[in-house]
Amino acid sequence: MKNFPFPAEELKNWFLFEGRELPWRKSKDPYAVWISEIMLQQTQVAVVKEYYSRWMARFPTVASLAEAPFEEVIKLWEGLGYYSRVRNLYEAARFFLEKHNGKLPSSREELAHVKGLGPYTIGAILSFAFHQKAAAVDGNTVRVLTRYFGIAEDVQKSGTLKKIRQIAEEILPDQEPWLVVEGLIELGATVCKRDPVCQICPLQKNCSAYSQGLQRVLPKKGKKMEITPLAREVFVIVCADEVLLKKGKSGQIMADLYEFPYVENSNKSFPFPFEAEKIKNLESVEHSFTRYRVKLHPMMWKTSEKAKIPEHEWISWREIEKYPFSSGHRKILQIVKRDFV
Ligand code: SF4
Repeated sequence: MKNFPFPAEELKNWFLFEGRELPWRKSKDPYAVWISEIMLQQTQVAVVKEYYSRWMARFPTVASLAEAPFEEVIKLWEGLGYYSRVRNLYEAARFFLEKHNGKLPSSREELAHVKGLGPYTIGAILSFAFHQKAAAVDGNTVRVLTRYFGIAEDVQKSGTLKKIRQIAEEILPDQEPWLVVEGLIELGATVCKRDPVCQICPLQKNCSAYSQGLQRVLPKKGKKMEITPLAREVFVIVCADEVLLKKGKSGQIMADLYEFPYVENSNKSFPFPFEAEKIKNLESVEHSFTRYRVKLHPMMWKTSEKAKIPEHEWISWREIEKYPFSSGHRKILQIVKRDFV
């Protein structure tokens, strides 16, 4: 392949001088690396900073996480989205405590059996925590390597990704390979961005995309994921100082999170077999999750009958902050608390 040898030393030096100081980069504790890498999936660095510090203060070790009640764990994750991540974290922490004495194993084979760990996270743990010669290829690294090596195949195809992972392994030096792994990720995040700043890039001299003016063409991506719009009528039903909530069932996208009862689309009729009076419409709220963009139309209702509804709970306003909400319904809760409670 052209562009070998890769300028690993230049990239390392650039990373040591220009890399951002991030809270998780201060620790090589495998647990801390694992937590930060899971949080960073699909989430911006600025958001993760705050969650990471809070998380590490409350759950500083595998054992502290594994032994905590799950309600508390998911509450601390509230707002980060992609909740399967936190379910897998919890399950994996219990596994590490039971089978590995509360430690993360240091072999690819053992990590590959852990729920929620894909090739990227395994590579990151092996590289950043155990300083092994292992690549960790995320979207940033894909951007840098496809441009640097001029790889013009669709990066959504598994064959292309496999090829990029192979190259990412091959370019690692024997000395301090983890600095190259982190350097690639950092370069993609701060310099080789969607609109790259090639003038300050340490790889510019031999970069294939730069020399051919292809920076904005690479990486090539096939079809974009289609977003499905949803619209829901949400019922905020109040009885004295309590409100009716529903907890997401296990296996559902919103498992273990609380939401106000809702119906799909424009079916505005009251969905429960008890008397209630509509007070008013509240401002609409939008939020996105996985491949959905949902518009929520909340309405305030009042009832004097605290009926028992299967899979629903009446929760008092005093206690409500203890409960983890999905992001969209958290926004509705804030509106209700601001205007009515
Ligand atoms: S020269 Fe430009 S396109 Fe090439 S790796 Fe650097 S920032 Fe990316």
